[in-house]
Amino acid sequence: MNLEEIARLCHDITQSYLDISEGVSPIIVETQEAIKLSRKHIMEEIFNRWCPISGEISFSYNGGKDCQVLLLIYLGCLWKYYLDNKDKFNWDKFPLERLPTVFIASEETFTSLELFINSSVERYNLNLYKSQLDKTRKISMAEAFDIFLKEYPITKSILIGVRRTDPFGEHLSPIQKTDLNWPSFVRLQPLLHWKLAHIWSFLLYSNEPICGLYSVGFTSIGSISQTTPNPSLKKLTNSEDSKLSLSFDWEINNSYPNSMVKKSEVNISKLTDEDITLLSTFGEFHPGWYLIDDKLERSGRIKK
Ligand code: ATP
Repeated sequence: MNLEEIARLCHDITQSYLDISEGVSPIIVETQEAIKLSRKHIMEEIFNRWCPISGEISFSYNGGKDCQVLLLIYLGCLWKYYLDNKDKFNWDKFPLERLPTVFIASEETFTSLELFINSSVERYNLNLYKSQLDKTRKISMAEAFDIFLKEYPITKSILIGVRRTDPFGEHLSPIQKTDLNWPSFVRLQPLLHWKLAHIWSFLLYSNEPICGLYSVGFTSIGSISQTTPNPSLKKLTNSEDSKLSLSFDWEINNSYPNSMVKKSEVNISKLTDEDITLLSTFGEFHPGWYLIDDKLERSGRIKK
């Protein structure tokens, strides 16, 4: 699929989710409202200030669930932008071939996540800038973005899949300049109001491939030495286990049609042997989407 085709698919997935009216759980109703607000930020505020086909807007992507949700919604908006403007600008084809994207790599990225990011580059037609690792010293996020901006000075704003329930997310706004100790660009954060349950509901319904680490108990993915599966999802042998229940049966059983996936199965990317060996030391865990408590989302992220 080229960018035009995948943007159209993302638009159709989003629209189909918004059209769900049967068997609707409160989570789905809330997620539909969350999507509408994100689309409003993108279509009415962001696209009115920065041109989405000029390279002024870049997308920060690390293969995580939040930026993937934002990517699906953003590509859907890009398709709508194309439809709304093609006559005005006489476009006879989609005006962008690849989406400008930035990934700040760390030495310690899970190989399964790296492979997933590579597959996202193909599937979503990303023009991915991957920061270079410096073996002699650790480069901070701010420094890595500074290097990126020097290479791509056309970038004025960057989409970020941060949510208010993330650390330091509480006081953020959908559109804001970076802090003074950061390189200067505008942070675009149209997902701030999303809760963890909304992310799972939309992502599972979308039937888009998601990073396999989520299927083995991860709920948020950092570097290898600082992330484990979420302890709240550990499989127990006694009746304690029944405390956990799946809130997304409907989404999984009625997911958007995808010929590559068997009905009622979750579309997950393959884990590498290296990660399987690494993870076998932790024991067995329920999939990440069994957790909907925002307060516990980062319980598998070890602070150093
Ligand atoms: P998860 O919490 O499940 O790992 P996520 O990675 O999408 O999902 P966060 O870790 O909360 O979410 O990060 C918030 C956002 O910041 C991401 O969605 C992405 O837009 C941006 N981001 C974080 N780390 C990186 C990185 N290394 N490179 C590029 N963008 C990043």
